[in-house]
Amino acid sequence: MGKTKLTTERKFWKKVGRQGLNDCWPWMGRKAANGTGILTVNNPDGSTRAVGAHIYVYDLMIDDVPGASHINQTCGDKGCVNPAHLELLLWGKKQESNNENK
Ligand SMILES: [Zn+2]
Repeated sequence: MGKTKLTTERKFWKKVGRQGLNDCWPWMGRKAANGTGILTVNNPDGSTRAVGAHIYVYDLMIDDVPGASHINQTCGDKGCVNPAHLELLLWGKKQESNNENK
């Protein structure tokens, strides 16, 4: 059943208050205590797991998210899932967000 990914993607975008490219895209679904969005993702075996909505969208639209990393909202809004407002921080060495168009 190869529709798992599509379903998850559609579920994700339904919960995003998508606006202009440079605006914040507020997450309208469940949120963690720290304010970041939580998306429930279906595993191939039928179980589910919770992933950060901002991590999901970064992985979906920008690049893979390594395990030992953190996604930071440059706009300061923890509930924002606009990829343009997200930067990947690797633990230990904080990367500056300098035009990384991957
Ligand atoms: Zn934002």
